[in-house]
Amino acid sequence: MAKIEIVLGDITKSQVDAIVNAANTSLLGGGGVDGAIHRAAGPALLAACRPLNGCATGEAKLTPGFRLPAKYVVHTPGPIWRGGQHHERTLLANSYRNSLTLAAAHGCQTVAFPSISTGVYHFPLELAAEIALRTLQETAATTAKSVQLIQIVCFDDQTKKAYEIALAALSA
Ligand code: ADP
Repeated sequence: MAKIEIVLGDITKSQVDAIVNAANTSLLGGGGVDGAIHRAAGPALLAACRPLNGCATGEAKLTPGFRLPAKYVVHTPGPIWRGGQHHERTLLANSYRNSLTLAAAHGCQTVAFPSISTGVYHFPLELAAEIALRTLQETAATTAKSVQLIQIVCFDDQTKKAYEIALAALSA
């Protein structure tokens, strides 16, 4: 079973087989972690995303990592929080499950995730952390032949703390 680690850092620097991008449905770049990934990967990433014709919320599509240390980028649009009655929980779980499954299908052994949807998409942090870790743990059972290490790369201390608490609750 893959080990799940919570780390503080910049996901564009992650030395893993695949990093996950909290994209938007256009896949044509945006702010936050999406913008940082496109800047670090270089313009070839946008050129690779254009023919993918976007991606539905909760689904995932894969490209090369180009100038990134990571070999692949898995792009997944997480849900925008609209009060909790619009399938936000299911869609967030879908993003984590589909991203990990897609990375595993490409033979990835190490995969790094950002905190999907908790930036400009305003998903409540504690709830997002719980869904993320529960879904990754469940999915890791089916990707165990490939994926050995899953990292959640948090950009700030508050986010890291929330994921640490959720991970401890999961292991308890
Ligand atoms: P979303 O639109 O899914 O909410 P955001 O990019 O706005 O995505 O935020 C998702 C999370 O990614 C936030 O916790 C944000 O602080 C974080 N983030 C922003 N830049 C980076 C980065 N370079 N590496 C890791 N996480 C990042």
